[in-house]
Amino acid sequence: LKGLAKKLTHNVEPPHRAAVLGAGIMGGGIAYQCAWKGVPVLMKDISDKALALGMREASKLLNRQLERGNIDGLKLANVITTIQPTLDYSGFEHVDAVVEAVVENPQVKKTALAELEGKVRPDTIIASNTSTIPVSELASVLQRPENFCGMHFFNPVHRMPLVEVVRGEKTSQATIARVIAWASKMGKTPVVVNDCPGFFVNRVLFPYFAGFSQLLRDGADFRQIDEVMEKKFGWPMGPAQLLDVVGIDTAHHAQAVMAAGFPQRMNKNYRDVIDAMFDAGRYGQKNAKGFWRYE
Ligand code: NAD
Repeated sequence: LKGLAKKLTHNVEPPHRAAVLGAGIMGGGIAYQCAWKGVPVLMKDISDKALALGMREASKLLNRQLERGNIDGLKLANVITTIQPTLDYSGFEHVDAVVEAVVENPQVKKTALAELEGKVRPDTIIASNTSTIPVSELASVLQRPENFCGMHFFNPVHRMPLVEVVRGEKTSQATIARVIAWASKMGKTPVVVNDCPGFFVNRVLFPYFAGFSQLLRDGADFRQIDEVMEKKFGWPMGPAQLLDVVGIDTAHHAQAVMAAGFPQRMNKNYRDVIDAMFDAGRYGQKNAKGFWRYE
């Protein structure tokens, strides 16, 4: 795959300056990874609390690199100053590429993307980190859909190698090549996939979550399921812990997109455990209230 990415991006420059819209679990992780790999990045959110959390996470990851002896204090300071938190769009006219990582809600994303397009240069690439919403649907609000595609990172961004690069109906080949070059520069393995709800990975993952919910309805204990997946199947974590890491609010929104996209396979006429946890405000690790307990 790395060889193929190299061939497709021969002579294609990765962005020299980038921006991230949304400083949550994913936006913060993407900003860190950009900076770590030498691409200065603006990180915009509508909440200063989210920006502070995003910066704290980046410092934590850099301090880990320091402890491991991978960098010295000077390099740490240099990298951290290349992440610029902001509540407005100042500096966005200078960026070559932006990845949008706001909440998984089609309307919120469309409003944010349309606004963003008005703040960047006509040649700036815009990518969405959406987990499930078809890229062509998001592109419907844009003036330049050819400059737009999906760029789906996985959580935690600094550890997970895969990036799904999603080709929308109107995405140009030049945009795909630039985003592949960007993902490669970030040390990731980009894989180009076609557009549909959930793309490739979440078309596999959400039926797995649906199976998990069904087992709980049948009386299974989530702790036992996690234990079986970890100890017997050798997976890094089971579904309950994975949902806690992903964010149960994000999973709830994404599940609604999958149900609308694949009504015969994913629709259900009852509220499942993901809906119940969402209604109870248990969003997982992000608010220290999930399936599992976090201090
Ligand atoms: P999150 O809830 O942690 O963060 C979302 C951030 O977006 C918040 O900080 C919020 O303040 C901000 N925001 C909301 N509206 C905004 C706007 N108009 N402009 C700027 N910022 C705005 O969510 P997350 O888990 O980081 O997910 C973000 C995106 O990444 C979603 O599309 C999600 O589906 C996708 N994604 C999530 C995961 C995961 O495991 N959590 C994995 C892959 C992709």
